[in-house]
Amino acid sequence: MTYYDCVVAGGGPAGAFAARELVRAGCTVLIVDPAAGRPRLEGLSTRVAQLLKARGLEAVLATASAPCPRSVDWAGLKRSANGERLVRRPAFDAALRQAAVDAGAELIEGRIGRIEKTHPEQGVVLKLSSGDAVSARLMIDARGRQAPSSQRLKGPQTLSISGLLDSVSGTPGTHVAATPEGWLWLAEAPGFGRWLQISVDADDLGGAGEAALQERVNRFLTQPCLTEDMGGLNVQNKLLARAAGLVLSAPELTLPVIPAGDAAVAIDPLSGHGLFWALSSALAAVPMALTVLDNPKPGVDLAARFYRARVVETFWRQARVGRDFYRLERRLAAEPFWRRRAAWPDDQPSHAVPNSVRMETRVVVEDNRLVERDVLITPLDPDGVAFVAGLPVGDLIDASGTRAKPIPDTPSPAFQAAFQWLASRGLFNGSTSRNAHQPTRTRETA
Ligand SMILES: Cc1cc2nc3c(=O)[nH]c(=O)nc-3n(C[C@H](O)[C@H](O)[C@H](O)COP(=O)(O)OP(=O)(O)OC[C@H]3O[C@@H](n4cnc5c(N)ncnc54)[C@H](O)[C@@H]3O)c2cc1C
Repeated sequence: MTYYDCVVAGGGPAGAFAARELVRAGCTVLIVDPAAGRPRLEGLSTRVAQLLKARGLEAVLATASAPCPRSVDWAGLKRSANGERLVRRPAFDAALRQAAVDAGAELIEGRIGRIEKTHPEQGVVLKLSSGDAVSARLMIDARGRQAPSSQRLKGPQTLSISGLLDSVSGTPGTHVAATPEGWLWLAEAPGFGRWLQISVDADDLGGAGEAALQERVNRFLTQPCLTEDMGGLNVQNKLLARAAGLVLSAPELTLPVIPAGDAAVAIDPLSGHGLFWALSSALAAVPMALTVLDNPKPGVDLAARFYRARVVETFWRQARVGRDFYRLERRLAAEPFWRRRAAWPDDQPSHAVPNSVRMETRVVVEDNRLVERDVLITPLDPDGVAFVAGLPVGDLIDASGTRAKPIPDTPSPAFQAAFQWLASRGLFNGSTSRNAHQPTRTRETA
């Protein structure tokens, strides 16, 4: 049985990207994926395009269409902006897996059957659908919404039904519209066809099977607010039904398994953030894995704290941002679909603004490893800042967050830049003269 540093279960965007980055960081990696993604179109945001370019993944970006104009009919507003590209997910995912293989990952086409043995420090033994077994020190679980979980946390569940239409309009672009029964996404680009996706309450389906899906789409499209635009839309092939509500599958990190992408937090497609989350959570999984592989003793604790701050907090933030977006649509507030989503999860603000300046010790990424660092929290930086102009913030400010540490006789340009930045946060006066280390604002007033 071959032993790997990491076995990656699932080669969708999260798994394939995590595998590529882990190999590049020096790990031995096996990806197991059935390469059985159903044909479907999705929107690729500008942030994803930027991330792919920054990581040298132009070949993956080349599977996407050119940027299309995006129009929105939401809350009475009609907005249009450029940016969204279309991707055929099977082609996009295959290109990412190829990038991982090119970097040195091994790929087995198949499925993870069951986990035979698991131990936080010794690793996992996994049975594949072929009957073979593989073992690894860590497993990145990137099986998407299919990842098993015994403690799912979820809000109102949405069902998205989608399919390729039998005709194109000839006008590239994507369109999002709010309707009483839910929302729709209509997307078209040259060579990609025209794709319709409706999102409704998961329990709002009259029956089972293709006929029930078709009937649900027809009922949706004949809503009075849509008939003028949507009458006569026909889906060419079998409809695709997918669960689309926000889900937190793994509220705690249980090593040796590190969940990434939808297997950690499955995002509501309304956010347009799903692929970005899949890639960025894969990036976050890499320092967790490397830190645990280097040294399990502090690594396990650091990874668990980092996971809570990065992954679990993302779930709550996405839940509240989503709630606010549904709340915006006041015209539809009385409709059951909108009422449920506007009420969940609570009334807390999506982005809590700290009302004071303080220092806190947090787990941050440094040189692709997790370390504890003092970070500065300000109303403008609620997630904390560990470095300013390349200097550790803990070297500049004392633990109270209000006093500058002693200033060198000859402050370097980086030091001066750091103090300029601190001044922009209302701390000190930007001067690096040795008399400047008295705070201009106190902890209470900043
Ligand atoms: C209806 C809908 C529309 C969406 N539209 C958009 C959009 O327009 N833009 C956007 O950014 N996001 C969108 N999303 C979100 C996006 O699809 C997901 O965030 C993204 O696919 C998550 O990637 P992932 O790699 O975590 O999981 P997945 O893409 O689900 O990949 C999981 C992989 O694991 C494999 N797998 C499953 N079980 C096993 C097993 N037992 N063994 C081995 N492999 C296994 C699967 O075959 C798959 O390849 C949408 C989501 C939905 C539901």
